[in-house]
Amino acid sequence: MSLHPELTKALKKILAGGYLDAPEDLRSYSCDMFGRGLPQAVGLPESTEQTAEILALARRFETPVTPRGAGTSLTGGPVPLRGGLVLGTARMNRILDLSPGDRIARVQAGVVTGRLQQAVLEKGLFYPPNPTSADYCTLGGNVATNAGGASGVKYGVTRDYLTGLTAVLAGGEILATGGRCMKDVAGYDLTRLLCGSEGRLAVITEARVRLLPRPEAVRALSAYFGDLKATAEAVAAIMSAGFAPCTLELMDRAFLEAVRRAYDFQFPPEARALLLIEVDGPAEAVNGQMAAIARLLQGQGAFAVSVAADEAERQILWRARRGGTAALVRQAAFMVSLDYAVPVSRLPEAVARMGDIGRRHGLKVVMIAHAGDGNLHPMVIYDPADARQAAAYAAFEQDACRAILDLGGTLSGEHGIGMEKAGLLDRQLSPAFLRLSRGIKRVFDPAGLLNPGKCEDACGGHE
Ligand SMILES: Cc1cc2nc3c(=O)[nH]c(=O)nc-3n(C[C@H](O)[C@H](O)[C@H](O)COP(=O)(O)OP(=O)(O)OC[C@H]3O[C@@H](n4cnc5c(N)ncnc54)[C@H](O)[C@@H]3O)c2cc1C
Repeated sequence: MSLHPELTKALKKILAGGYLDAPEDLRSYSCDMFGRGLPQAVGLPESTEQTAEILALARRFETPVTPRGAGTSLTGGPVPLRGGLVLGTARMNRILDLSPGDRIARVQAGVVTGRLQQAVLEKGLFYPPNPTSADYCTLGGNVATNAGGASGVKYGVTRDYLTGLTAVLAGGEILATGGRCMKDVAGYDLTRLLCGSEGRLAVITEARVRLLPRPEAVRALSAYFGDLKATAEAVAAIMSAGFAPCTLELMDRAFLEAVRRAYDFQFPPEARALLLIEVDGPAEAVNGQMAAIARLLQGQGAFAVSVAADEAERQILWRARRGGTAALVRQAAFMVSLDYAVPVSRLPEAVARMGDIGRRHGLKVVMIAHAGDGNLHPMVIYDPADARQAAAYAAFEQDACRAILDLGGTLSGEHGIGMEKAGLLDRQLSPAFLRLSRGIKRVFDPAGLLNPGKCEDACGGHE
C-alpha cells in the first residue's frame, strides 16, 4: 500500500531527491539486526525546517513516522512496525559549530559519532561517549537511545554530555531545549527526557554536546583468564581497589574464537576470556596505574598480561572488540545481542547465570560486557525458523530477565527497549511508572504517530 497521493506529492515537493519509495529502498530502511517491517516511503530531510514540514503533513494525513539514524539498533527501534514514513537523518550530517572556547559542539542529528570524535580530537578536545558502533551510528541515534559504550565506566553516557537539543514535535512544532551553557536549570529538564526516548516523543534534529580536554595519554592492557567467572571477579576487584580505567571490556572464548576465524586474531589456547583495560590521563600517572592493575590481575589468576607497546598494538585489540559482533553474525543463522546491566559487584553471578540458563535451554550464549559498569551483552545464537530453537530462546529470555532483576539489575543498560524488550518492560517498571510514561507519550504525541507499537505501547501493565 502507498501513502495518500496528496501526501506523496507534498513530500516529493519538500524533499526532492530525498523522497524514496522504490521497493529496494523500502527494504533498505525496513530493518535492523533484530526486526523488520516495511515502510510505505522514506523521507530524508536536510534541515529542522524540512523535518517540521514533514511532521505537520504526517499529522494531517494520520501517517506513522519512524525516525532512523544509521539503523545500528539491536532492538528493532528504527523498524517501522506500522508502515508509514521512515524519517532518516542521513542528509542532516553537518558539524555546525565546534567551539574550543566554550567546549561545545553543535551537530546535526545525522553526523556519524566517530566523525565527531575525530573532528574534536583534531582540536585537542575529547567527546567521551564511545559506542562500539561509533564508526557507523549517528549522534541523533545516540541521543535517542542514550547510548553508552566502552568509556562509560569512567566517563558516563551520552546523556552526561548533552547541553541542549533541537527537536521537532509530532505535528511539526520546533522545540529548542538547553543551549550552550554548562549550567542551566531553567524549566523541566526536557533535554534529558528526550534523551533515551527512542524516537517516540520527538524527532531530534540537532544536539549540543559538551567536550573535555583530550587526555595526554591512553594505554591498553590485555589479560587472559582460564575461567569466565574469575574474569568477572577480577573486574569487581579492579573497581573496588579504586582504579579509574576508561575501558574495562570482557570478551569470552566463543567471541575470541569468532574474531580469530575472521581476523586471524591470536590468543593463548587455554584462555576462556580476555579483559581489555585502558587507562587515560597524564602519561606518568597512566603508566603507574597500568603497572598496579597488571599486578592486581596476576593476583586474580590472569595470565599473558601484556601492555600494548604502541598505538598499532592497541588497535589490534580494538579491532577484535569492534569486529567480533559482525564476525559472529556472519557465522550464525541469527543472533540476538542482549543488553542488561547489574551492579558491578553482581557481575560474576550475572555472567555465570546467563551461561547456566543458556545450557539449560540448549542454546549457545556468547558473552561480552562493558564490564566496568556492569553492562553485559549475552549474545544468543539460534535459528528462529526452527520452532524448537525459537521456543528455547523464548524460555531463555524469560529466565534471563528474572535472573537479572533478581540481581538488582535492569533490562537495558544502553540499547533501549524497542520491539525486543517491550513485552518485558512491566516486569521492571511499576504501574505508576508506566502510567506516567503513557501520559508523557500522550502529551508529546497525542495521535500516537511517532514510532508506534514499541516500548510502553506494547507491554502489559495497562490499567
Ligand atoms: C556492532 C554494534 C555495536 C554496538 N555497540 C553499542 C555500544 O557499545 N553502546 C551502545 O549504547 N549501543 C551500541 N550499539 C547499538 C546502537 O549502535 C546504538 O543504539 C546507537 O545509538 C544507534 O544509533 P543509530 O544512528 O544507528 O540509530 P538507529 O538504529 O537508526 O535508531 C535507534 C533508535 O533511535 C531512534 N532515532 C534515531 N535517530 C533519531 C532522531 N534523530 N530523532 C529521534 N529518534 C531517533 C530510532 O527511532 C530508534 O528507536 C551497537 C550496535 C552494533 C550493531
